[in-house]
Amino acid sequence: MIHALYLHIPFCHKICPFCSFAVCRDNPAKHAAYFELVKKEFDLLPPLDLSRIESIYFGGGTPSRLPLKTLTDWVEWLRKTVGVGVQTQWSIEANPEDLSPDYANGLARLGFKRISLGVQSFQGQGLESLRRQHTPEDSRQAVANIHQAGIQDLNLDLMFGYPDQGIEDLEADLAAFKECHPTHISAYCLNIEQRTPLFRQPQWQQWQDANEALIAEMYQRIVTFLARQGYRQYEISNFALDGYQSLQNLVNWGGQDYLGLGMGAHSLVSSQRWGNHRRWVDYRKALQSDHLPRQYQETLDLTQKRDERLMLTLRQTKGLDLSEFESCFDVNVSAVWGSKLDQLKTAGLVKLDQQRMQLTLPGMLLADEITAVLAAMLANL
Ligand code: SF4
Repeated sequence: MIHALYLHIPFCHKICPFCSFAVCRDNPAKHAAYFELVKKEFDLLPPLDLSRIESIYFGGGTPSRLPLKTLTDWVEWLRKTVGVGVQTQWSIEANPEDLSPDYANGLARLGFKRISLGVQSFQGQGLESLRRQHTPEDSRQAVANIHQAGIQDLNLDLMFGYPDQGIEDLEADLAAFKECHPTHISAYCLNIEQRTPLFRQPQWQQWQDANEALIAEMYQRIVTFLARQGYRQYEISNFALDGYQSLQNLVNWGGQDYLGLGMGAHSLVSSQRWGNHRRWVDYRKALQSDHLPRQYQETLDLTQKRDERLMLTLRQTKGLDLSEFESCFDVNVSAVWGSKLDQLKTAGLVKLDQQRMQLTLPGMLLADEITAVLAAMLANL
């Protein structure tokens, strides 16, 4: 049973140098063709139970590159095809420069209840280094337009850890984010991934390597500041006022089934996991020859499910329920992890409380490493 539906809109005005998503330069002539391809992908799927969809999420790319008329076609198609209930959370990612009053009102009319705005920073210098297309004023105006359109549920993306950013820049950003009254904040450290233009500019990675302590301090300041403002951290990078957690996130991290449509979209359905082609030509070519556009597909075995559960739950502040984990995967964690957990606890990286293991703040900075060590110990059984 599918709990969340993801629609990937790959178009971006300009490709940011740090971006590793499946994106392409916006070309309005491609909008209609892409919509037809996504509909075809959906038609080629085997029958799926879509009666319990809690979240519909337009992500990208930049979905706000689609004109309202085109977006209306998408929404009408979804209402007809998926038969979405009134409780479903409709979300869309947008870039500040696209959010005019008309566009924001149009999104509200279409039924979008939640907007995720790619603000990243309110510092002009920071936006320039990240080569973003918008200005701080564009972001402020976009937030005002969204609120005036009656949409209160607003996520703002905050990026930190880019070269020459200082603590005072981050503090100024946090104050500016607070002024926007978002219901949710996603705070990401700039990640320099292979296959991105930034990767070919070693000075970016060198700056991060030389400033590890500063970046860790930034993260701690973000967590502390947001907690003081009433934003509850529910995952390493995600913070929400009570009742405003992203349903899409919760479905994905809860291991429930979700369906992704479009270039580079991922799906998990009844232990089958697949990812679509990331490039326009490959995605289109597969569909034009009546094939599902899958780049890979696999059936998750128990070990993969176990590792995935470990990784996804440790990233969340609620942590891992050890007894549930033991009974689901038939392992005795105290026998396998016993002394390692004591070490992690003594090092202040995990908290152990009534059969629940949670990462502490310093532990969250090392989440990937801790998960890898614990998963490797299970693999040696
Ligand atoms: S706008 Fe977002 S999705 Fe598009 S290139 Fe930039 S970071 Fe990537």
